Amino acid sequence: MMDVKLKFICEVCNYKFERPKTWKERICPYCGKKNTVHEERSISDLLDDPELGNCVQF
Ligand SMILES: [Zn+2]
Repeated sequence: MMDVKLKFICEVCNYKFERPKTWKERICPYCGKKNTVHEERSISDLLDDPELGNCVQF
């Protein structure tokens, strides 16, 4: 299994970092807050997503 890294961003402090796809804790390593971290996804990632891609109109 590949060690897939995802980019995450904290919406509180805007700190960007990478974690393995299996990372579940979702605690910001900068400010230490929980549940403020979400994946930072590029537009190409969104278009590749079969669910979200349908919602993006250009
Ligand atoms: Zn943070």
